[in-house]
Amino acid sequence: MRLFEGCDDGRPLTMDDGIGLAEALLGLPGFRVLAVSETRGEVVVEIETTVEVVGCRGCGTRAVAHERMPVEIRDLPCFGRPARLVWRKRRWRCVDADCDAKTWTETSPQFSARALLTLRAGVEACRQVGENARPVAELADELGVCWWTVMAAVIEHGTPLVDDPDRVGPVAKLGIDETSWLRANRAHATLYATGLVDLDASILIDMVEGNSAADLRRWCASQDRAWLDGISVVTTDLAESYRAGLDPHLAHATRVADPFHVVRVGNRCIDKVRRRVQQETLHHRGRKHDPLYRIRKLLLAGSERLDERGHQRLLLGLRVGDPNDEVVGAWLAKESVRDVYLTDDPDEAELLLDKAIVGCAEDDVEEIRSLGRTLAAWRTEILEHHNTGASNGPTEGLNLCVKKVKRCGHGFRRFQHYRLRVLLHAGGVTWPHRPVPPRIRTRAPYSVA
Ligand SMILES: [Zn+2]
Repeated sequence: MRLFEGCDDGRPLTMDDGIGLAEALLGLPGFRVLAVSETRGEVVVEIETTVEVVGCRGCGTRAVAHERMPVEIRDLPCFGRPARLVWRKRRWRCVDADCDAKTWTETSPQFSARALLTLRAGVEACRQVGENARPVAELADELGVCWWTVMAAVIEHGTPLVDDPDRVGPVAKLGIDETSWLRANRAHATLYATGLVDLDASILIDMVEGNSAADLRRWCASQDRAWLDGISVVTTDLAESYRAGLDPHLAHATRVADPFHVVRVGNRCIDKVRRRVQQETLHHRGRKHDPLYRIRKLLLAGSERLDERGHQRLLLGLRVGDPNDEVVGAWLAKESVRDVYLTDDPDEAELLLDKAIVGCAEDDVEEIRSLGRTLAAWRTEILEHHNTGASNGPTEGLNLCVKKVKRCGHGFRRFQHYRLRVLLHAGGVTWPHRPVPPRIRTRAPYSVA
């Protein structure tokens, strides 16, 4: 269906005629609309540039029009319908026979060369995938292009935003945490990545492939020396690889063991003992009505969070399911770890931690002794939390954003794509300004006049 066409004499209507409504809707400076039609649920807009006089690139003589060729480009949807631009692109020719320029095609800053999307459509696709963590495939469907076209736009417009030197300022507190980015399959084990976080600004600084000491060291080596010197506190989980990887580039920083991960080590100890005792007493994995299985969540909750009924259920479960008091021992050990964080006083914390370490070391249960050894190995780092107040809390918050990207991507093949999309979503990127329209039909201010 033909919706709009230029004048009968072949001269197109423009803004200059006072009725350039189509151009006003199109919003591409330097272009005029030749025709608008609608086919199979999409709007097709034929356009051309408004330039009439062009100088030769080689010699500067006035060029003559040589030929035209239609180039199809996808643009942002128009009033809810997918839009296709058909640009009647001109080829110009130099009249000077001696000139080397011969013929050339016109270009426009609104269109990247060879790109299937207009600049504004590419930028918007990048924003949807990055800022809103939307799947690339969804955008591709919406715009009527293939997956790679959208991903190419995300790479083209997103990379400069991520590489922007102003994105990450000086960092005083650095958080390091691992996330898995690709689940294990037949070909490989689970692949991990290391996230580096500015704990004060709550932004993801970078994402590094792998979680080994060498991976972390390599990243540190590629950073600016002065920037690394500005980091005074580094928070990690209780992973030996990260502790080793901080040397030598971040050896000057105070190391803090993240409280959440310290408590989790205690929780894991309980789970291990509970599963073993379950297996030894009932000879099967925990089932719905097994006494220990029923209190598995109560065991992990802090004792101060349990109400009277919770306490009763916990005691009953332990009395029935834990004949040798092994789970009770693990529970007490876990509570002694939690106690360290109930105080804000560094001296008190030191006392409580040493008590926990000694208590664990004297226990008969191997899992609890192992917990004690871990605590002893990380004693300095655990106690630094009370001196610096640093924790990986912001990191864990950002991990939720990272997981959102991971979920919407339904798995990634290339780490570089994963890194780009995660950094666009959680890396504190400054997005190009987009006008905020005023609200209409909003409640008007009450007037007495
Ligand atoms: Zn020329």
